[in-house]
Amino acid sequence: MAPQIKYTKLFIDNEWVDSQSGKTFDTYNPHDGSVIASVAEGDKADVDLAVAAAKRAFHRNSEWRLLDASQRVKILNKFADLVTRDAQYIAELESLNNGMVMRMAQTLIASSDDHIRYIASLADKIQGSTIPVDGDMFAYTLKQPVGVCGLILPWNAPALMYLHKITTALSAGCTVVVKPAEQTPLTALYLTALLVEAGLPKGVINVVNGYGETAGVALTHHPDVAKISFTGSHEVGKLIQQAAGANNLKRVTLELGGKSPLVIMDDADLNVAVPVAAAGVFSNQGQICIAASRLYVHSKIYDKFIAAAIEHAKRIKVGDPREPTTMQGPQIDKGMMEKVLGYIEKGKQEGAKLVTGGKRIGTSGYYLEPTIFVDVKDDMTIAKEEIFGPVQSILKFDTLEEVIDRANATEFGLAAGIFTNDVNNALQFTKHVESGVVWVNTYLGTSIQAPFGGFKGSGLGRERGMDCVEHYLEVKTVAMAVAKKF
Ligand code: NAD
Repeated sequence: MAPQIKYTKLFIDNEWVDSQSGKTFDTYNPHDGSVIASVAEGDKADVDLAVAAAKRAFHRNSEWRLLDASQRVKILNKFADLVTRDAQYIAELESLNNGMVMRMAQTLIASSDDHIRYIASLADKIQGSTIPVDGDMFAYTLKQPVGVCGLILPWNAPALMYLHKITTALSAGCTVVVKPAEQTPLTALYLTALLVEAGLPKGVINVVNGYGETAGVALTHHPDVAKISFTGSHEVGKLIQQAAGANNLKRVTLELGGKSPLVIMDDADLNVAVPVAAAGVFSNQGQICIAASRLYVHSKIYDKFIAAAIEHAKRIKVGDPREPTTMQGPQIDKGMMEKVLGYIEKGKQEGAKLVTGGKRIGTSGYYLEPTIFVDVKDDMTIAKEEIFGPVQSILKFDTLEEVIDRANATEFGLAAGIFTNDVNNALQFTKHVESGVVWVNTYLGTSIQAPFGGFKGSGLGRERGMDCVEHYLEVKTVAMAVAKKF
């Protein structure tokens, strides 16, 4: 049975409200394209109200600002308890709205308990330093929350993105306005209700559902928003940075797309490399920012690898994400499905060899076959652009030196990986590849304790890791003259 939908409105100043315009938009189930619910559609007028509420909640005398940091830890830990209490419901809601395979949704939501507690634990460890400056001076730094933050979410892992961004901003002591992706507002709304249940004071969190061009633009241009944290496409990331510079010089954290290289050396264990490379690009229907979407295979094992990769892809069970045996669900919507099919056509036209998949499955919902192209060349569109679908592009190489240069010849730099049993190959590759995360003999696994973010066009700043709250803080230097008494 489909999970019951409990929240569809905007959340502003501790109230669930309709939008000022009274407009709504439908949110869909990618499994069959049916409407799940009608959701309040916010725009500039609602963003203005939400930012005003967040600004009041950030006033120096507000309940939130007067709260001890240790109390922020307690509220966030209570939030973790509630997420764990409702984990099955949240996973079902995520799967319904996003098409995420239930098993993956359950794993992600289960892991978020640790994630929230880790980030919460940083709240009362925000410390400045005392600095031995020249002269008779006493100098120290204070680290203070940056202010009202706009958190703009993508649709591909909406609950997890919400949890990381919101927990980090609140741990730092900021107040927030969240703009969920228009495709997937439902888990953000439910998680917001849990934060309120956990005891978050009025106005600290506000949620405005709506479209990027209206609600998103209003948030990124708002003069009272001090910081934007955005996860989404490279194209919109650039617009956000421009908007941030257009008026009050907002701080920005950008987690953007990628075209991540995974290198298979000739000494790799193919029993591990083949399934891991497949998971690296087919998980979540290929809708993962760190997708191993350029798979470089050494010429000596090229044919053997391809045969095993095809066999593996053919075994991937595509279907209803609620079924426990399903491995690949639907693409998020018709537009994304057609975009991926367009890339597949382009791959064929430009001379890549399609060896499995390539077509839509059925006519209901947005299902695609796991697809493999071989003999892909670096200058083909499918080797250059982020496809964000279940398409594995295999390229041939001869030497490590050559493949490092080819791996780096991209505007992106989010993730990379190498399979090899030679430690020197691993050390050379990890040193020289230009990416925010590099895996050796594995791929995809991330942890809350390690920083995550991109080099080059894949982003700005880092999320996760011990320094994550630093991106939501300002450093203030205080210098005091010391009177000479003796
Ligand atoms: P998107 O950029 O289209 O949209 C992301 C969000 O931005 C949505 O909430 C959207 O409404 C909003 N938005 C759109 N235009 C805007 C504008 N002009 N101003 C302000 N906000 C605007 O991205 P998407 O399609 O939702 O997500 C997929 C992309 O996200 C992929 O490129 C993927 O690689 C990337 N991603 C990156 C990471 C990471 O951590 N690096 C994680 C997940 C997804």
